[in-house]
Amino acid sequence: MSDYILALDQGTTSSRAILFDRTGGISAVAQQEFPQLYPQPGWVEHDPLAIWQSQLGVARESLARAGADATQLAAIGITNQRETTLLWERDSGRPLHNAIVWQDRRTAGYCDELRAEGFDQVILEHTGLVTDPYFSGTKLHWLLQQVPDARSRAERGELAFGTVDSWLIWQLTGGRLHVTDVSNASRTMLYDIHAQDWCEAILERLDIPRSLLPRVTASSEIMGESDVEHFGAPVPLAGMAGDQHAATFGQACHAPGMAKNTYGTGCFLLLNTGETPVRSANNLLTTIAWRLGDAAPVYALEGSVFVAGAAVQWLRDELGLIASAEESAAMAASVNDSGGVIVVPAFTGLGAPWWDAYARGAVLGLTRGSGRAEIVRATLESIAFQSRDVVDAMSADAGLALQSLRVDGGAAANDFLMQFQADILGAPVQRPAITETTALGAAYLAGLATGFWNSSEEIAGQWRIERVFEPRMSADERETRYEAWGNAVGRVRGRTGE
Ligand code: ADP
Repeated sequence: MSDYILALDQGTTSSRAILFDRTGGISAVAQQEFPQLYPQPGWVEHDPLAIWQSQLGVARESLARAGADATQLAAIGITNQRETTLLWERDSGRPLHNAIVWQDRRTAGYCDELRAEGFDQVILEHTGLVTDPYFSGTKLHWLLQQVPDARSRAERGELAFGTVDSWLIWQLTGGRLHVTDVSNASRTMLYDIHAQDWCEAILERLDIPRSLLPRVTASSEIMGESDVEHFGAPVPLAGMAGDQHAATFGQACHAPGMAKNTYGTGCFLLLNTGETPVRSANNLLTTIAWRLGDAAPVYALEGSVFVAGAAVQWLRDELGLIASAEESAAMAASVNDSGGVIVVPAFTGLGAPWWDAYARGAVLGLTRGSGRAEIVRATLESIAFQSRDVVDAMSADAGLALQSLRVDGGAAANDFLMQFQADILGAPVQRPAITETTALGAAYLAGLATGFWNSSEEIAGQWRIERVFEPRMSADERETRYEAWGNAVGRVRGRTGE
């Protein structure tokens, strides 16, 4: 009998594998980092074989740690760093270039060109995305322009494009399957999230032959089986979703109006909007959250904050105000308030809903009495304020008031931050017992397709709260504080690029 689901979590800096049991509990974890390549300023690449080999390595290691073999696996679920772009030869599987990572800005000029001719409106209409180098489409265009013979070979049908999910499944099946799921497809900037097909108008403008593209599957369906050689027995491949989408599923945000926020280096907020794709009036992204088998796709609004946990690293590494990220909670709590200090950590500009690339950080409201604790506290508060900016934009777009926020990621461990988040949102913040929500989401998607779990309700029933943070601040104070934050953000915005 099958005992486990194996989740492959292929992240930006490491590959992880987690074995989940039927209760959604963790039986084994293995993790391996792999090299980040920076060939030029603003460029970020990964070696495709390092991605695959580290992922295969940790998958085998997790089985060994649990003393399990492949016959005990009901299925494999895959979740991955999104948008990262790969191109390889169909007959040999050989990559034609390093993977171009989502952070890579090399196609900024081309995106400017598309915007100047108004093509960003076409892109927004069909894909729900803003025209930005972040997404795969312009990266693939770059590869076809720059890799010798790539375009002619692509036109002859000799090449395959894929994001990391496609690449892993190609490897796991020895090239038998060239697929991607709807959530990953919806981050390529080539996929029409309404028609649920590759978008002809965009393919034509970006000069991308359709023969390159993977077949698009549901996020939860039996896509095929892995080759025997990898784990000693074939294993069904049955779940696939981009990391933030998987985390939203793993947080059991299955119903419209439910939202999760991941507090890592930056923050990623996703709000489930159900079967309706909501077009944002506030610069959020519209995306397919997932699709379960033949059901209608579930859509989400997404907003990201560029600097969240990274501001805590700044306190530790640049300012030397704290010795560890954990220490920030106690130091913030050692004073009653920030004494009017506001930190706006716009180190790399501001993300949603402002999208101001030229904004830079500021510390405002300093007085003679402002000390270490005030600055640390104000920095943690800035993470919650920035998240509220995104939540407000989402609520306005969706016409829904946030009922509660489910949280995960490294900085969600900070009790001070979570309490302040609840206070400044005026809504409860719920921290789950299992914060490995990304891998768990991939496992759930795979387990649902294979009958390891029977329904979304069964999964939602496994989601356990570790702690709820209820709002304690008065409405008056909340709005006064939030207004002061808004004023501070206004001070750093609207600079020019000089
Ligand atoms: P990522 O996946 O982006 O690498 P993680 O989810 O691993 O991020 O979280 C790491 C980030 O969280 C770091 O930026 C770190 O500064 C921050 N962090 C970790 N623990 C805490 C804490 N207790 N309080 C505040 N920030 C924290």
